[in-house]
Amino acid sequence: MVIHTRFAPSPTGRLHLGHAWSAILAHDFARERGGRFTLRIEDIDGTRSRPEHVAAILADLDWLGLGWDGEVVFQSQRLALYEAALDRLRGAGLLYPCFCTRADIAASLTAPHGPEGALYPGTCRALPPDPERLAREPHCWRLDTAAALAGLPERGAGLRWHDDAAGWVAADPMSHGDVVLARKDAPASYHLAVTIDDAAQGISHVVRGRDLFTATHVHRLLQALLDLPVPDYRHHALLTGPDGERLAKRHGAPTLEALRLAGQDGRALAESVRRGELPVGIGPAKA
Ligand code: GLU
Repeated sequence: MVIHTRFAPSPTGRLHLGHAWSAILAHDFARERGGRFTLRIEDIDGTRSRPEHVAAILADLDWLGLGWDGEVVFQSQRLALYEAALDRLRGAGLLYPCFCTRADIAASLTAPHGPEGALYPGTCRALPPDPERLAREPHCWRLDTAAALAGLPERGAGLRWHDDAAGWVAADPMSHGDVVLARKDAPASYHLAVTIDDAAQGISHVVRGRDLFTATHVHRLLQALLDLPVPDYRHHALLTGPDGERLAKRHGAPTLEALRLAGQDGRALAESVRRGELPVGIGPAKA
C-alpha cells in the first residue's frame, strides 16, 4: 500500500506550535515509510480564509523543513466535486434544506447535546418541499442521519474505522444528529469536503488531532454513503499549555511566523519538537 498522509490547515489564522506538532507527525509518518505527504489548504470558508494566512503557512512549513509532494491542494478549487456529492445525496433523498438560525436551535431547550454541542432538533426535517422559500431564504443542507443509516446494510451497525490509538472504533454518527453538509455561507461543510478530499487524494492515513476524533463518526458514514475508501486514522494528542488546556493564542505562545521572522532556525525547532523538547509548560495532553 502506498502510504499517503496530509496536513490540512484552515487558513483562518497563523500557525503555532500545536500546528507544527501535527504537521511534523503527519509528515514524518509518511517519510519514515517512503510515502507521500500532501498539503491541503481547507479554505472553503470564504469569509474567514485569508491569502496572507496561506502564504504564512507555506513559508512556515518550508522553514520547518516539512516539504510536501505535488501541488498544494486548495479546497476552494474543488467545489464542483462537493456539489456532485451533494447532488447524489440529495437525489437519494438523504438531504433536506434547513432554514433555522443558530438562535432558533439554541432556543430549542429540549435539544440534546452531541460531541459538537447542541444536536439539531430536526425542526426542518419534515417540511414539505417549498421551491419559493428555497430561492428566497438562506438555508443550509443537512443530512438526515437516521434515514442514511436505515439505507445501509445492518442499518449501519457494522460501520467502523481503525484508529491507531483506540483500535477498532464503532462509528456512531447518530451522536452528531443531522449534520450540515452544505453551509449557508459556504458550498460545503468541513465534514463533506474533508471526507471527499481524503478519498480523492488517496490518503491512506489521516494523521490529525484528537479534537477531530468524534468527527470521524460522521466521516465514516459519508464514506459508506458515497462509496469511498476508508483510510486508517491516527488521532494524536493535542499540545496543551500550562493550564492543561489546548494550546491557543491566549497562552502567549508565539506564532511560527513570529519565530521565523525573529531569525530562529526552523529545522532545529522541528528537531526539538520531535525529541519532545517543548517550551516549559507545553506538552502533549496526557489523556
Ligand atoms: N482543517 C482542519 C483544521 O484546521 C483539519 C482537518 C483535518 O485534519 O481533518 O482544524
